[in-house]
Amino acid sequence: MHQRQHSKSIRHVDLTDVQLASSETARGINRNIVLELIRANQPLSRADISRRSGLQRSTVSQIVEQLIRENWVREGAVASLARGRHPTLLGLNEDLIVIAVDIHPKQATIAMVDLNGRLLSRSLVPLTSSPGPSTRLITDRIQRMRQDFLSKSIEGIGISLPGRFDPGMQRMIFAPNLHWHEFDLLGTIEKEAGLAVRMENAATACLLAELLFGRLNGVRDAVLVTVSEGIGTGVFANGQVITGSHGMAGEFGHVSLDPSGPLCACGRKGCWETFGSCSAALRYFEELQPKAMGTTFQELLNRAEDGDESAALALEKQAVHIGRGLGPIIAGLSPSLILFSGDITSAWSRFGPVIEREAAKLSLAGEAPQILPTYDGEIARLRGAAALVFQRRFVREPSLPVR
Ligand SMILES: [Zn+2]
Repeated sequence: MHQRQHSKSIRHVDLTDVQLASSETARGINRNIVLELIRANQPLSRADISRRSGLQRSTVSQIVEQLIRENWVREGAVASLARGRHPTLLGLNEDLIVIAVDIHPKQATIAMVDLNGRLLSRSLVPLTSSPGPSTRLITDRIQRMRQDFLSKSIEGIGISLPGRFDPGMQRMIFAPNLHWHEFDLLGTIEKEAGLAVRMENAATACLLAELLFGRLNGVRDAVLVTVSEGIGTGVFANGQVITGSHGMAGEFGHVSLDPSGPLCACGRKGCWETFGSCSAALRYFEELQPKAMGTTFQELLNRAEDGDESAALALEKQAVHIGRGLGPIIAGLSPSLILFSGDITSAWSRFGPVIEREAAKLSLAGEAPQILPTYDGEIARLRGAAALVFQRRFVREPSLPVR
């Protein structure tokens, strides 16, 4: 990825520099450094780890033995080096997997994701508006999919949500497009599946996936924006993921840009997502072509590609509003990078230039933030869901080896 001038001096921000958890023992810190080195550079030998981390050989050996016992790391091929040395190379254990669930109001995608972020299988489950039966559909599908992975070790279930999950209350507290507030989603799935469940807002989950599976090297201030039925953002500032009180930080999608604007699902008027979401694009399209009620966003993208002028205009209007809505983010957080995920990334040649143009007008001083798409929307959210479970092993503070 292109690096900006001012971040060049930061050699490697990486996960070990991300401060999420409270203090750890020296042993735990060194362990996470070793694990992160293996993740980023596999396959590599114990001597390589010692050289790169500055940790003593004996310390590295001890930690590696523990990681192997715990099943995170595996010994693999034997390297052939000069002077007849044949060190055993280490890599992450690919048999360790997470069940990733990406929930949208009308459907959920369930996938098996390995420790390297690879999707091993994927399945779509249509959902109803009531949480009980919908959750049953999800857990039934999880149980069926597990049958194909009996030889793998499942670490847990990660769920990316179109809303905010309060870690204190263990409840979804803000999901205006989903309406499942009173339902104990986490407890129900844990009970049915018999596995630990972690859930998080989709935007924050995608941000963690970028940190874990690696696109944020050298970046300490980034915002990830998911654009789908609504708009969500995950905030990474000064090298930290920001969650805020009740896990609510980052609700830029519900900053009102026009108090007399359309009614938002949150009950307020003129929120950013009422102008910039995929639902807004469909509304713009229906205004131009009233007979086109019931079009999906994918159909709208296809129509625009086929030369439908109304479809292209509706998407252009959405893109302009996405760009303008970045104002509070740019002014408030000054990110050097803004990443986008969601359905719009598949038509990035259409959205990217418009968003960049609008964002450039919003910068108060200095360079405008770099604007990039993440991987295909759905995959980003699934990797995000997986990262929620895996990140507990990787994302720790502080960054320096403790000797
Ligand atoms: Zn709103």
